Amino acid sequence: MSRIVGVLLLLCAGAFASFAAAQEPQKVKGPDERYKIDILVVVAHPDDEGAVTPYLARAIYDLHKSVGVVFGTRGGSGGNDYRREHGPAMSDVREIEARQACAKLGIDKVWFLGGKDTASQNVLNSLANWGHGESLEELVRIVRLTRPEVIITWLPSIFIGENHGDHQAAGVLATEAFDLADDPVAFPAQLAAASKRLEPYLENLTPWQPKKIYYFSDANDQKQFAGKGFAYSVREVSPSQKKPYWLLAMRSAQFHLTQFPDEIHRWASLDDDAIQKAMSDPTHLWWSEPETLIYGKGILPFEPTSGMFDCLPPQACAFTSTRSGADNLLTQSVVPVSVSIGGPWEFYENFRAKHGLRQLPVASGPEIAVKPGSVVAIPVHVHRPLLAAILTLTADVPTGWKAISGAGKFSVAEGTDAQFRVEVQIPELSKEQLKDAKPETIVVHVSEGEHAIGDVKLKVQLVSGGVPQ
Ligand SMILES: [Zn+2]
Repeated sequence: MSRIVGVLLLLCAGAFASFAAAQEPQKVKGPDERYKIDILVVVAHPDDEGAVTPYLARAIYDLHKSVGVVFGTRGGSGGNDYRREHGPAMSDVREIEARQACAKLGIDKVWFLGGKDTASQNVLNSLANWGHGESLEELVRIVRLTRPEVIITWLPSIFIGENHGDHQAAGVLATEAFDLADDPVAFPAQLAAASKRLEPYLENLTPWQPKKIYYFSDANDQKQFAGKGFAYSVREVSPSQKKPYWLLAMRSAQFHLTQFPDEIHRWASLDDDAIQKAMSDPTHLWWSEPETLIYGKGILPFEPTSGMFDCLPPQACAFTSTRSGADNLLTQSVVPVSVSIGGPWEFYENFRAKHGLRQLPVASGPEIAVKPGSVVAIPVHVHRPLLAAILTLTADVPTGWKAISGAGKFSVAEGTDAQFRVEVQIPELSKEQLKDAKPETIVVHVSEGEHAIGDVKLKVQLVSGGVPQ
């Protein structure tokens, strides 16, 4: 390259850079990636997590997976075999014990649903005592926030064994959350875009479908679950930690002092070699070898006994699906970008479809009545673009009206839904003008470069009073 051409190219590049800076699209915020996890464990009580910590140690240390844990209760009704605290104070103690046990494995995403311990084998007692609806709403919120690939929970079923109703309730709620978190009409306020900054009601979460759900049981006979799911060794030595997974699990359990202080003190006095020698007797080991995570269901016809993360993206597997539409679920990102009106209009569209109410009368198109001098907002929902996209929103407004925010250029990340809110200032009108006011229409055009994606229209009637939009 000659020196002159090089200088010209540099000058051109500089000019282009400053032009591009002037045109810089506003970045649409995606979900908070700090909370995206691979595995969500849903259990009832502090220390229940210990049923699966040998697997969690493997997943965290050697498969490099991220884990979150939800506890149904704070364990306040448990006995205190360590010190004198009791009742509500025990809840405070056991929450800390659970957080410390999780932290020992590097798990810092830990939530409590606020249910109360229920001394019963009847799951219905537990669900009633936990506040089924409120607990489910919170769990669906956590699934939408953390977007787990896999949920692991207690088996919601009755077996001879501890058969704790609270354990079963955790499994019921987790299964319901698995089914609901991707449903746009389940707790829709969690999914609705905040209408403005400091919006106190709406949450702007993402619909989410976990790919698989697995269960574990407190049944006495664990052998009956062999072959029903994914089996893993608890005695295998972690390549990265150089310790067997059961030992890593036991060391994380050392914080549950209120529950088994004598055993914890005994282990604490033993070094790793001594404790391994003691546990070579299988009757001393807390876990079966191997342990089985019972396969519940998945969004594709996964092989129940295959590995937990086999055939999950980014891996590709061929399935002969018998479920209609199931094949689409892992390829949903190929759905082309589309646009629709969002907010309550979109909710009711989904709601009518979900509840078989398509015959209900509806307005011929989105419409609203507001006062002159107010601001009207048009919610615009851009659905799951295949690739990252630069979108342009422009608003056609009636004469004298003005788009004051929400129009412009936006960059949207791949596979991320984007919800916009275009605000239009309506001028003040005299009483005479208002008397003759006809419905007006605002049109928001959405395009990607030269390619028009779609329009969103809102008919606006000006009236003298009423509640704000
Ligand atoms: Zn328990």
